[in-house]
Amino acid sequence: MTATPAIEGWFTVGDAPTLLGERCTGCATTYFPPTAAAAGFCRNPGCDSETFEQVPLSRRGTVWSYTDAQYQPPPPYQAPEPFVPFALAAVELPEGMVVVGQVAQGYGTGDLRVGQEVELVVEPEHASEQLIYRWKPVVELGEEADQ
Ligand SMILES: [Zn+2]
Repeated sequence: MTATPAIEGWFTVGDAPTLLGERCTGCATTYFPPTAAAAGFCRNPGCDSETFEQVPLSRRGTVWSYTDAQYQPPPPYQAPEPFVPFALAAVELPEGMVVVGQVAQGYGTGDLRVGQEVELVVEPEHASEQLIYRWKPVVELGEEADQ
């Protein structure tokens, strides 16, 4: 397997991938993306801690909002040629943060609903060897209606 994460240190790969957050050792606030340690300070204004530990985040969350990306985003997004619109979901995790990501291959905004449960998956970005995380509906809307 030669595929590697498009961004090192943001998520794990494998059958049960997780996003990697940073938890402040002073106030336990958790951040994603994990850029607090590099910044050197905690964003909690009442906390003066400068140390963070890496923590795996919940694999499942609920859709907080979603949209279609009809225009090519700026780098580091690597756009295919020609640009193909994709869906983005903002997912609220139990840790209390909202993480924006693309929606899993084969799914679009028509498959999403606010409050729906989604799970983290890791998939190749376009036809490259680079892996990115995406959000995949746990239960498809059609199936849910049958239950
Ligand atoms: Zn803190």
